[in-house]
Amino acid sequence: MQVYSESEINKVLNDNIDAILVVCSKEDSYHALKRSEIISKYIPAEGSYKALIEKLMFHMNDKDSEITEDYKVFLPKMGEFKGRIAQKISFDLDGQKHYIQMLVYPTEKNKDDYVILLFELDKHEFYRDEKLKNKVRTIQNSYLFSMYVDLNNDNVNSINVSEISENNMHYVVKYSEWRMMIVNMILPEDQELFLRKTNPEYLKENLKPSKSLSFDCQMKNLEGQYIWVKLIFGRSDTTSEEDFRFVFMVQDIHEDSLKLFNELKKFETLASHDSLTGVFNHGRIETELSNAIKDLNTKNRQVSLMMLDIDYFKKINDTYGHAVGDDILKEFVNTIKEKLSEYEIKIGRWGGEEFVCVCYDMDINAVQKIAEEIRQYISEKPFEKIGFMTCSVGVTSINEKDTVKEAFVRLDDALYKAKASGRNCICINN
Ligand code: GH3
Ligand code: MG
Ligand code: MG
Repeated sequence: MQVYSESEINKVLNDNIDAILVVCSKEDSYHALKRSEIISKYIPAEGSYKALIEKLMFHMNDKDSEITEDYKVFLPKMGEFKGRIAQKISFDLDGQKHYIQMLVYPTEKNKDDYVILLFELDKHEFYRDEKLKNKVRTIQNSYLFSMYVDLNNDNVNSINVSEISENNMHYVVKYSEWRMMIVNMILPEDQELFLRKTNPEYLKENLKPSKSLSFDCQMKNLEGQYIWVKLIFGRSDTTSEEDFRFVFMVQDIHEDSLKLFNELKKFETLASHDSLTGVFNHGRIETELSNAIKDLNTKNRQVSLMMLDIDYFKKINDTYGHAVGDDILKEFVNTIKEKLSEYEIKIGRWGGEEFVCVCYDMDINAVQKIAEEIRQYISEKPFEKIGFMTCSVGVTSINEKDTVKEAFVRLDDALYKAKASGRNCICINN
């Protein structure tokens, strides 16, 4: 690993900051120590701090250039930071969307003075973040309502009815009364079930600390139509039998649940794939091998592994820049994907410029042949912008007694030997 000095790190950081703003909030002023070209189109070199906050918190997030007077009362509050804060903002400039990470550091000397750093963000990462937020929103929206119940004190509070409002309604009502209020919304045939399962005695007997219970029934929605819902009771974790608090939720399992399911599937894909190259990520390819080992034991299905590592990749980054390096990684993956498309082979990014392939129905000879083909193909293929490069490959096959860890250690060892033998070659470790 290359050793960097502190001043070199400082330079890297400094080169990547798009703006440094020094704020004196008491005097309502700020000045910029640094602004990138884009930022300087939007933020003057100095001026009023309130105007800056208005820009960062409102206009950048939103196309409107004016905010109504009523909302301006929030500006001083929004510009008050008690500790370090990180926030993402987006704004339109010259008809293009830009994404910015804002970091606020209160200075040690005076708590009303801050340093604000702005970094332009990669669009991809921003979207990923936004999608996760949407996921949480989607899940929340699938609940008709939720509330907290304290059974021993017989009260219900903090009720959230998502069909009515996003905000919690803080009022306290007795749980015993609340059951009787709600029972009329339940389909008559299901009312007996509802009363039985929501009965405090029933819950005390059946709902253990940190566990949950649920049942399905039909219930009227706000339009008065009966829909299928799941009623869920989740008890707080506690060691005391006396402490009986739980959260109660009503989930719409009507038409939205399919939509929700599909949403969640998309997130599963995001969570299991490498964002740069689109192949499986480290965790997912490990799972793939773990499943393959089970298949070997239960279905006697043979499996072998390849690990590919680009030779002298660091030099490519150093010579052509990181962005070209990224493009090469993508081109490399697309090339091996295409070459392997006729086989049942799962590809994952192990890290950096290392890729692991789980190859089904292949013994060591078969996988060796393919590894050699790929190595040769890569070495003869001109890559965009950089021309020729090579890769080294480690190969192993899996046996019944293997654990995931043992298999990867052997594979890694094979790759290490290929590197040690001069690179642009394959090495088998069985
Ligand atoms: P060797 O032949 O021994 O494999 O040498 P190498 O230079 O390829 O290997 P080394 O492990 O020394 O360097 C790998 C480099 O890969 C270092 C790192 O900067 C770069 N890298 C890791 N991840 C990424 C990435 O996502 N994008 C780019 N552009 N570079 C990356
Ligand atoms: Mg390498
Ligand atoms: Mg490497």
